[in-house]
Amino acid sequence: MPTRRQFLRNSAILAGGALLTPDELWAARAEQSLMILHTNDFHSRLDSFPDNHPKYAGQGGIARLKTLMDEARSKNEHCLLLDCGDVFQGTPYFNRFGGVPEYKWMNMAGYEATTLGNHDFDMGMEHLAGLIRNHARFGFVNCNYGLVNTPLNTLIQPRHLVKKGRLKIGITGVGVNPEGLIPADLCRGVVYKDPVKSVQEQVDILRNKEKCDVVVVLSHVGFEYPGNQISDRRLAAETHGIDVILGGHTHTFLEAPINAVNKKNSPVIVSQAGWAGLQLGHIKLSFK
Ligand SMILES: [Zn+2]
Repeated sequence: MPTRRQFLRNSAILAGGALLTPDELWAARAEQSLMILHTNDFHSRLDSFPDNHPKYAGQGGIARLKTLMDEARSKNEHCLLLDCGDVFQGTPYFNRFGGVPEYKWMNMAGYEATTLGNHDFDMGMEHLAGLIRNHARFGFVNCNYGLVNTPLNTLIQPRHLVKKGRLKIGITGVGVNPEGLIPADLCRGVVYKDPVKSVQEQVDILRNKEKCDVVVVLSHVGFEYPGNQISDRRLAAETHGIDVILGGHTHTFLEAPINAVNKKNSPVIVSQAGWAGLQLGHIKLSFK
């Protein structure tokens, strides 16, 4: 059913703590719209920053995030909540409770899927596998880590499918090169594969075989770098068939998502929402 899709889209990043303004632009006429909400690099920041914090005094925290999510859900019939990894590490919650409260929060918030960030390995793969098995009620996607010889095998999928109304959404995930970022003993057996090739493979399946209407990549490779290193910007330019790349790792704050162009000159939205739950990214796609 390759219907002619027309994206009428607008997107913005919303600062944590603010209220969503009524989105009149999108109230109109589209047959169906999809609101994608996204976070990245949460780093165990369940509480807001302390009032004496030099940079983010009183900001962030799951109470504010949840308010924003509820607000978005009350205004949009179809919302998809996604995360881009590094859920863990950064506050004593993680050291004391080993990631359980973070995943409980994500269950409660209604996350659909996340991907693997380098810090999600911080207590080892056996620990992570147990957490996923016992506590996570959302999907984990990654397509460029070979995990067959690790405890994560079968727990992480290359693709995740979601249905929202009449829309079929295909999600894949991509991770950063563990070398130099994850201590070798914490990722023993992980085989790092070429991100561009791995992502394209999955996107082709999501487009051609699964016939997805929307294809989203959850990335933890970073927004952009001065050199030739793989980044979300490069991933957008060197692939085709992706609609939206949601990123993490570089803790990038954007005024609004970037409108990039892919290998075949079609548009790709690239976004990232800072870190620590300080922002809730939101991208609204409308289909006619
Ligand atoms: Zn991070």
